[in-house]
Amino acid sequence: MADPRGFITTPRQVAERRPVEERVNDWNEVYPGGPGRALLPIITEQAGRCMDCGIPFCHSGCPLGNLIPEWNDLVWREDWDEALDRLHATNNFPEFTGRLCPAPCETACVVGINRDAVTIKNVEVSIIDKAWDDRQVRPEPPEWLTGKTVAVVGSGPAGLAAAQQLTRAGHTVAVYERDDKPGGLLRYGIPEFKMEKIQVDRRIDQMQREGTVFRTGVQVGDTLTGHQLRDRYDAVVLAIGSTVRRDLPVPGRELGGIHQAMEFLPQANRVALGEEVQDQIVATDKDVIIIGGGDTGADCLGTSVRQGARSITQLEILPNPGTDRPDTQPWPTYPMIYRVSSAHEEAGDRVYSVSTKEFLGEDGQVSGLRLVEVELVDGKFQEVDGSERVVPAQLVLFAMGFTGPEKEGLVDQLGVELDERGNVKRDKKYMSSVDGVFVAGDAGRGQSLIVWAIAEGRSAAAGVDAFLTGSTNLPAPIPPNARPLTV
Ligand SMILES: Cc1cc2nc3c(=O)[nH]c(=O)nc-3n(C[C@H](O)[C@H](O)[C@H](O)COP(=O)(O)OP(=O)(O)OC[C@H]3O[C@@H](n4cnc5c(N)ncnc54)[C@H](O)[C@@H]3O)c2cc1C
Ligand code: SF4
Repeated sequence: MADPRGFITTPRQVAERRPVEERVNDWNEVYPGGPGRALLPIITEQAGRCMDCGIPFCHSGCPLGNLIPEWNDLVWREDWDEALDRLHATNNFPEFTGRLCPAPCETACVVGINRDAVTIKNVEVSIIDKAWDDRQVRPEPPEWLTGKTVAVVGSGPAGLAAAQQLTRAGHTVAVYERDDKPGGLLRYGIPEFKMEKIQVDRRIDQMQREGTVFRTGVQVGDTLTGHQLRDRYDAVVLAIGSTVRRDLPVPGRELGGIHQAMEFLPQANRVALGEEVQDQIVATDKDVIIIGGGDTGADCLGTSVRQGARSITQLEILPNPGTDRPDTQPWPTYPMIYRVSSAHEEAGDRVYSVSTKEFLGEDGQVSGLRLVEVELVDGKFQEVDGSERVVPAQLVLFAMGFTGPEKEGLVDQLGVELDERGNVKRDKKYMSSVDGVFVAGDAGRGQSLIVWAIAEGRSAAAGVDAFLTGSTNLPAPIPPNARPLTV
C-alpha cells in the first residue's frame, strides 16, 4: 500500500487547465505542457491516496483491467520504470486513454464511496508522458518470426492495438488504412486541444520500428478486394470502426450549411496542423448549433470557439441528467450525470429536452432551426404544447452518433454476418462468421470508447494468435460485448 493515511490527509487534485482566454487562441492541448506534466509536481502525493484495497473495483471499472493500485504504489515510491512496466502490461497506449478516457475506473474507486476518488487517469498519463520525456518508451521487436501473416484493416485504436500485439508475437503484420495517415478517429476525429497528434505519430514510429507495416491511402474493398486480402494473408482483422452517421431527415435538411461533425472536424484538424483545405467548413462569425450532447458535440464546440463563432448552442433531446448519481446507477457503475468538458468551460449554451422540427433557410442556406421542447412520457418523447421557437443558425453540425460499420465494399465482399444492431458478429475469440476473419473495436461493439477499442484490439490479437499457432500467451482482457460497470 502506498501512503496508509494518504486518502485522509491529502485532498484530490487534478491537473489545472490553461486559462480559457489563453487556450482558445491556439490548438495546443488545454493543459500546460500536456496533462502528464501539469500534475507532475504533486503526482506522488496523489498516487499515495490509493488505498490498495483488498478488492480493487477500479480494475473492473477499467475495460483494460489496468493494474491501478500497483502503479499508484510504484509512483508513490518514485519507481517510475517499474510503474511504466506495469502500465504497459495491460495498455498499449496509455497516453491516449490518460488524455481521452472518461475514466470509469474513478467512478468505481473505493475511496469514491464517501470521498473524492483517486485521480487515476492523471497518474496514468503522468507515468507515460514522463516515460516519453525520459526516452523510456522503446520499440519491442519480436525475437523471432512465426512466418504467419496478418492484415489489419483500419488504424484506429483497435487496429493499432491488435497490430502491435500481433507484431510483438512474431507475426508479419500490415495495417491498411484509407486515410492518408494512420490513427483513425484519434487523428481526424479528436481535436488537437484534446490530444496533440505527436502522441499518435510517435506510437506509429515505435510500431514501424517493431516491424508493423502501414499501407495508407488504401480503401480495402475497392481495388484491393476482401477476397484478395483473405487469400494473401493467413488472418484478417476488421477494425474499420463505426462510421455510418446518424442523420436528421426533417424538412430543410437539404439546405447548405448543415453538416455532419465528421465532415467538419477532420478539416479543422488538418488546418490546425498546417494543411490547406479547399472550401473548408468554418464556424467563423456564425451562430452555430450542434445537435447532440456527447464527446463529438463537445469537440465541435471547442473547435467552433477556436474558429471564432458568434454563438454556439449544443442541443440535446434528453433531459439534463443533473450532477448527482441517480439511485438506479449506484457506485461502482459509471453514472450518466452532467459533466463539464474543457470545451464546455470555454463557451456555448447547452439546451436540454429539445427536438428539431425543421431547418429554415434563405437563398438555399440554413438560417435557423424550429425547435420544440419535449418530455419523456412512458419512455417516449412527447412535444410540449406551445413550446415551439426559432433559433438562428448559419452552421448546423450533427453529432448524433453512428449506427455501425459501412456494409458496402469490404463487409459485403467478405460476407461476414451482422448482429441485430448492424455490427459485425463475432464469437468468443473475436472471429467473425468467416474463418480467419476477426473483428475488433467499434466495428463489432458499435460506437464506443478508445479504452474499449484498445481492449478489444488486444483480445482479438489473442484470438488471432491462437488461430494461427494453436495456442496463445497474449492477454485477452475482455470477452466480446462485455459491458461491466461502464457506459
Ligand atoms: C469526434 C469524436 C470524438 C471522440 N472522442 C472520444 C473521447 O474523447 N474519448 C473516447 O474514449 N472516445 C472518443 N470517441 C470514440 C472513439 O474515438 C472510438 O470509439 C474509437 O476511435 C474506435 O476505435 P476503432 O479503432 O474501432 O475505430 P476508428 O477509430 O473509427 O478507426 C477505424 C479506421 O478504419 C478505417 N477504415 C474503415 N473502413 C476502411 C476500409 N474499407 N479500408 C481501409 N480503412 C478503412 C477508417 O478510415 C478509420 O481510420 C470519439 C469519437 C468521435 C467521432
Ligand atoms: S484506461 Fe480509462 S478506465 Fe482504465 S485506468 Fe485509464 S482512465 Fe481509468
